[in-house]
Amino acid sequence: MPEPASLQPIRADDGWRVPGIANLHSHAFQRAMAGLAERRTDPADSFWTWRETMYRFAERMTPDALHAVAAQVYAEMLEAGYTRVCEFHYVHHRPDGNPYDDPAEMSLALVAAARETGIRLTLLPVLYMTGGFDGRPLSARQRRFGHEVDAYLRLFEALRAREDEGLRVGVALHSLRAVPEAALREVLAALPARTPVHIHIAEQVGEVQDCLALRDARPVEWLLANAPVDAHWTLVHATHLDAAEVAGIARSGAVVALCPTTEANLGDGLFPLRAFLDAGGRWGVGSDSQISVSPVEELRWLEYGQRLVTRHRNIAVGASESVGETLLAGVADSAASATGFADGDDWLLLDAAAPILAGATAQDLADRWIFSGNRPLLREVHVAGRRVVAEGRHLLAEAIAADYGATLRRLLAA
Ligand SMILES: [Zn+2]
Repeated sequence: MPEPASLQPIRADDGWRVPGIANLHSHAFQRAMAGLAERRTDPADSFWTWRETMYRFAERMTPDALHAVAAQVYAEMLEAGYTRVCEFHYVHHRPDGNPYDDPAEMSLALVAAARETGIRLTLLPVLYMTGGFDGRPLSARQRRFGHEVDAYLRLFEALRAREDEGLRVGVALHSLRAVPEAALREVLAALPARTPVHIHIAEQVGEVQDCLALRDARPVEWLLANAPVDAHWTLVHATHLDAAEVAGIARSGAVVALCPTTEANLGDGLFPLRAFLDAGGRWGVGSDSQISVSPVEELRWLEYGQRLVTRHRNIAVGASESVGETLLAGVADSAASATGFADGDDWLLLDAAAPILAGATAQDLADRWIFSGNRPLLREVHVAGRRVVAEGRHLLAEAIAADYGATLRRLLAA
C-alpha cells in the first residue's frame, strides 16, 4: 500500500488537483450495447444469455464503427477521470472470420480513437482459440475473435512497433477456457520482459466448475501453479476465490481488475475484498462493459457491495482510516504495472466551488468525491501535458458524439 501522503490532493487557485485514474479493463465496442440488454430473454437470464446479445453486436462492428464507438467511450472516460485505459480487444477479423487486408485494422481503429481523444491506451490484443475447456472449436459467432499462435504473435509485434508515449501494447489471454495450455506457454515464452499480461480468470461459477472437472483445479489455482504470474499480470474478475487463491494472488504481486458495476449488471458475484486487502493484495477497477463509465461509481460500489453482504460500514480501509483515500491509493498503486505506463503527470481538477466540496480539506476530499452525490466534479483533465477536458467536457465532445450518434443509428438499423 503506498503512503496516502503521496496522493494528497493539492489545493490550487481554481480547484483541487488529484491524480488521473487508470481504467484496467475495457471492451470499447460494448459501449454501443450498454442499456440494450436489460430485457428478459429467458427466465434464467445470466452472463451466458447476455453474451449472445453481445455477440450480435460484435458481429456488426466494422473498423469505422469501432473507431466511432471507441472515440465516444474514451472521451467519456476522460470526462470521468480515467486517463489510462487497458483495452481488452478481441474483435479482430471480418464477420466471416477472415482477417482484414491489414490484420491489425480493428486494433488500429482503437489506436486512432485513443490518439484523437488523448487517453493513454494500453492495447491488449486478445488470444482466443477455443470455445471451452474441452478444446472445442470456436462457434460461428466467435470466429472473428480467433488466432493461431503464430498469427497472434505477428499481430502483437506489429502493434508493439507503434508504441509511443500514448500507446503501450500488452497481451490478453481471453481466459483459460479459450486458450489451451500449450498455446499459453508458447505465447508467454515469446514475450519481452515486463509485458503486461491480462486474463479473464474466474468471473463465472460455471467456468470454475468446468476448470475443476477438466483440469482438476480451480482457475486461479491452476494459473498460479502453471504460469509465471507476477506483478506484470492482471487477473480480471477474480471473483470466485477460495482462501488459498486469495493468499496466492496477493503473494504473486499480480493485480486484480475489479469491475463492480459490470459484475453487478451481469450477476457475477462479489469479490472477497476484505480478505484480499488483509493479504496485501493489489487491485484496480475497470469500466468493462461500459454500462457505467465512472471510477467514482466503480469505487463506490466496490465498497457498497461489501457493506451489503457484511452489514458493516467502512470496509475498505488500510494505511488510512478513510475509505475514499484507501480506494484511491489502491487504484494508484496498481496503475503502472497493469498499464505499462509509468505514473506520469496526468491530473484532474475538481471544482472547488461545487456545493459538495464546500469547506473541503485535503483529509476529507477523497471521501467527499467518492461518496457524495452524483454531480460530476471534474472541471479539467490533463494527460501528458495536454488539457483534454475543460469545464467538464471533452474538447472534441460535440464532433465525437455526432459521429457516434450516426454510427449507432446505422448499427441498430442493420
Ligand atoms: Zn472483459
